[in-house]
Formats: sequence, C-alpha cells, structure tokens
Amino acid sequence: MSKATVFSDITIVTSNDDACVSVMEHAYCVVYEDKIRYVGLSKEEALEKAGLLSDDDVSVYEGKNKILCPTFANAHAHTPMSIFRNIADDFSLQDWLFGEIIPREDRMITDDFTYGHLLTLAEMIEGGTACAANMYDGANQITLASAEAGFRLQQTAMGKTCKDGVWSADSKNVEDFIALCNEQGKGLVKPSLLVHSVYLYPGSFYAELSELAKKYDIPVSVHISETIKENEDCMSSYGCTPVEYLDRAGLLSDTTVAAHCVHLTENDMRILAERKSWVAHNASSNMKLASGFADMVGMQKAGIRLCLGTDGASSNNNQDMFMEMRLASFMAKGKTYDPTVMKASDVFHMATRNGYLACGFEDCGIIEEGMKADIQIIDYDCPQMWPLGNPISALVYSCGPKCVESVMINGKFVLYKHDLMTIDFEKVRFETKKTMERLK
Ligand SMILES: [Zn+2]
Repeated sequence: MSKATVFSDITIVTSNDDACVSVMEHAYCVVYEDKIRYVGLSKEEALEKAGLLSDDDVSVYEGKNKILCPTFANAHAHTPMSIFRNIADDFSLQDWLFGEIIPREDRMITDDFTYGHLLTLAEMIEGGTACAANMYDGANQITLASAEAGFRLQQTAMGKTCKDGVWSADSKNVEDFIALCNEQGKGLVKPSLLVHSVYLYPGSFYAELSELAKKYDIPVSVHISETIKENEDCMSSYGCTPVEYLDRAGLLSDTTVAAHCVHLTENDMRILAERKSWVAHNASSNMKLASGFADMVGMQKAGIRLCLGTDGASSNNNQDMFMEMRLASFMAKGKTYDPTVMKASDVFHMATRNGYLACGFEDCGIIEEGMKADIQIIDYDCPQMWPLGNPISALVYSCGPKCVESVMINGKFVLYKHDLMTIDFEKVRFETKKTMERLK
C-alpha cells in the first residue's frame, strides 16, 4: 500500500537545467512512490492528484515557515574517512596523506568501511545531502550499506591490483562490482572507476585504466591539480600538466568527475570545457590543506561544468554542503575582488542539479513533476534564518544542517522531523569509536 505525501503551503526553491533558480511561495508538492507528481499553487489540484494516486489516506506535511528544495549531491567525498576525523590535522597534503592517512587505511577491516560510510551518511542526511560521488576502497560493503540506508551513490570500483609493485587492470573486479550494483544497489548505486591522480600509478598504466573505463562504459573519478607540487612533479615526469596527461591517456570525458582542479592553465581549462568533464570544487579542503584557491570564476567563464564536494572528513573536517556553497561563493568573491561573481544561485545550482548530473543521476536535483523525489525541508523559524528575506540567499548564506528538518530520498523519508529513519546511529557510534581506537 502506498501513500501520497502532500507538502502543503510551503516555499519551493529549485534550480532548472538553465541554472535558473526560482522561488514559489504558498506552493504544493505531491510525492507518490519514488517521484514528484505535482508542483503548483493549487491546494485543490494537489489534494485531488494525491487522492487519485493513493491507495490509502493522503499524508499532509504542513509547510508553514518551511522551504522545500532539492537535496544536495556531494560530488567529491571519501565517506569512510570520517573515522579519521580530527586525528591528523595541520599537516601538508603530502605529509598528511602518506604519513598519517594511508598507514591507517592499510589497517582497515571490512566493518570499518561499512560503519565509517554509515557515519558519513548520517551526517550527510542530517545536512540535507542525499547523494555523493564516493572515491574509496571497500566498494562492496559501501554499496550494501548505502542501499540499506536508502542513499544515492556513485561509488568507485578499484579495477586494479598491485603485485610486487606492478599494477595491472582487473576487469573481473569491475564486472563483479557492476553486477553487485545492479543486483543489490536498489537502483541507488552507480559504479565508476577509481583513477585517484596522476601521481599514484606508473605512467604506462593510465591508458590501461582508460580502456577499462571505456570497456564497461563507466565514469572516471580522479583528483587533478590539487597542489602546485602535483603540477611540478607531473611536468618533470611527463613534460605536461596533469590535465594534459590524463587527456592524452583518454581519461577525460563528459562523465569524468575531476576533483579540485586548483592549479589549471588556460589550456587545461579549454580541454576540460571541450571534454565536458565535471570539476568538483572543494573549497574547505583546499583551504585547510593550503592547496590554494581554485579559479572558479575562470572555470565558469571557460564553460566548465562545475559542482561542489566536501572531500573526506579528515581534510575538512565535516560533510556540510551549506558550508561548501557559502565558501565557494566567498572564495571566488575574495579571489577576484568582485562581490558580484559566484552568486548564491550559481552555487545552489552547483550543489543540487549539477551535483546529481555529475554523479550520473539525471532525473534528480530539480523540484519538478516527473523527477525523482529527492527533497529536503528546511525550517526557517529559527534565529539563524529569521526573517527569511530572499530564500535563495537564506539557503546559501545563512542556513546550516541544524535547519534541515526532513530529507526524502527516492520518495522515502530518511530523516523525518530530525529523526534518522534508516540508520541506527547508536550502533554506528559504538562501532566507529571502536575502529578509531584501534587505528589511532
Ligand atoms: Zn579527494
């Protein structure tokens, strides 16, 4: 038996495919099963539609002093890294990654991936995020945990093995992972290929990874030009920039999600725009690790498709997409001495519609009839948000996770009036504390 939900007399904020963000006050939205079935201003039409669809009574969600908008899609995350939160800070990226993080990751066991991932999902859901592009090992455990929690994910397959220091592509690993997504992902998990960066594998190996991604028609997930050192090393090893190198290897396409892109040349921007690759900007992580300030305005002008990410919780140290929207906007304004650039509506579009497109979910991220029901309800009856003023400004510049009252993914409440519905946080808290003590 399915019940339709009517969000009643609520302020709807949404972007569209022209990156135009609109506000509709005193509006109604009907959700039935996994989809949005009505968006409009007529109470009668909404109730009639809901009544026709429902086998049961209609459920009404009162919208007074509330905003209904699309949930966020975090386009660059390393979810299990939340277990390493606040234990290795104030290091350079190289010292942090190779000295502090990788040695701990090498000691992770199966359950650590599951509970580390669930810890991050709990934080993401409470902060209005319903989808993420996740770059991490432990793909199988992560996929099963996501499906159980009802969370959308683009998850990397490892797709490679290293024996005696020699890397080789692993087709079977990719094939098995695609099968797992199809059979047990509940339609919520899509596979991608972990390429990581230009500095982790031998030069000859990148063309093999490109062939693997093409063979199975899956997106590539990669960090690009995160630091000046990465660019300098690439230049001395290969005589070109990381973007040029990855492009020659065939790894840049319209499904590639390229994280960071802090230090790009004009030619790099031209290539990324031509390939229609997604660039996931990580403002907090780039500032915390002192990687630099990405030229978001330059990338926007070059026509690059932009989205936002948090990066892992050990380099951020949270998964707050409200903060990423705000910092992306402020960083761009500060960098260019121009307060008119990177408007609230620009970053809202990047955090919602563009994020979903980058993660491969084309029918999400817009509040419109026929789209999947990935929705968050913001309560603006609080000191942080009152008086509302412009709802788009309020969402980007004033709002935070504590204002998120409810979250629906694929038509199901995963957060209802501040209660997590699909994650046992007591269990997650117990398990992740144990892991943290073992690995610290
Ligand atoms: Zn990253």
